Amino acid sequence: MQRITILGATGSIGVSTLEVLALHPDRYAVYALTAHSSVAQLAAQCARWRPEVAVVGTAAAAAELSALLRSTGTNTEVAYGEAALCAVASGPRCDAVMAAIVGAAGLAPTLAAARAGKKVLLANKEALVMSGQLFIDTVHASGAVLLPIDSEHNAIFQCLPHDFDRSRVAPGIARILLTASGGPFLNRAVASLASVTPDEAVAHPKWVMGRKISVDSATMMNKGLEVIEAHWLFGVPASSIEVVIHPQSVIHSMVAYVDGSVLAQLGNPDMRTPIAHALAYPDRIASGVAPLDLTTIGNLAFEQPDLDRFPCLKLAYDALRCGNAAPALLNAANEVAVEAFLAGRIGFRMIDQLIARVMDHLPVVAVTEIDALLEQDRLARTLTHSLIPT
Ligand code: NAD
Ligand code: MG
Repeated sequence: MQRITILGATGSIGVSTLEVLALHPDRYAVYALTAHSSVAQLAAQCARWRPEVAVVGTAAAAAELSALLRSTGTNTEVAYGEAALCAVASGPRCDAVMAAIVGAAGLAPTLAAARAGKKVLLANKEALVMSGQLFIDTVHASGAVLLPIDSEHNAIFQCLPHDFDRSRVAPGIARILLTASGGPFLNRAVASLASVTPDEAVAHPKWVMGRKISVDSATMMNKGLEVIEAHWLFGVPASSIEVVIHPQSVIHSMVAYVDGSVLAQLGNPDMRTPIAHALAYPDRIASGVAPLDLTTIGNLAFEQPDLDRFPCLKLAYDALRCGNAAPALLNAANEVAVEAFLAGRIGFRMIDQLIARVMDHLPVVAVTEIDALLEQDRLARTLTHSLIPT
């Protein structure tokens, strides 16, 4: 029986994870569930799953959760704050951690899980984009098992040789082909993008996801973050990672080998497939996802991304090539800009403009310590906020 901690249990990935666990009560138990402020939803999850610990963001949320749990006779210990998140991600009673908090807020607990040598199921791409080498060094030092949940990276992992080791140059791999749906604005007139609304931006044609990653998909910053994520997960340079637009989202990514072979992983666009894959790896378990029906889909199309339409993709490649703290600055500026867009404070095209200005203004320094990294994150957030018109 594996005991699982789900960081971000009330989010899109967290809920899908619980759906997969529900199919396999013989294999998995829930050790801890966490949420930031969705207290009622977390209380309902605790009543159903009876975790040992539940963690929320604040003392007030913890008091509210405790009262709700008492009313349902749920005997779950309640804690709050970052130290509690790190404790449930690294404690001895937890075997595997689903890292599904959105954004930089997930860095500390995800890193704590890695440091404690856990099986880390990584959905929280921002944590890896920010901390890059630091994260990978932590995984190697502790012997943690890092498994990608992001559908593209999970696909690539499935297409790589079984004995793949990111620390050695893998013989025979020519390129990684990272597929992208192109999001809701793939075919919209570029000139009209300035006036799109948050609701239009989060209406993804293929995937149902949290609001932040949905906006990232509309700008294609999500793919940019994924290029950086692929670099760190698989040890391949930016020049060997190619983004291919594939609007049907049936091929989740591919690995091209030097002999001309291209291996792809296919499936319906449903995160329960990569979640089930990573949970059971190297076994295979049912995920609840409907079988893929290729004849109904009919055609698979591919095209090159247009960087004038999606400047965020270019900004991310630039940050990866620049290295050091550049991806952390990019990520921080993007988080602040997306939040401002969702709050109706800036237009859609201001997102890429703000990130570009932050990247131009801030010097890129080398960071080898977590505190220095967090300082770069803070500097980029402060600068981005200061550039947002009031
Ligand atoms: P979401 O917004 O639906 O859920 C986010 C979760 O994080 C919630 O449980 C929320 O309570 C928690 N959270 C938010 N802010 C927090 C904070 N400050 N401190 C602690 N907890 C906090 O997001 P999601 O779509 O489930 O995405 C989660 C992560 O998975 C993101 O990094 C995203 O990029 C990645 N991801 C998601 C998908 C998807 O299909 N949704 C696919 C690939 C990768
Ligand atoms: Mg993805």
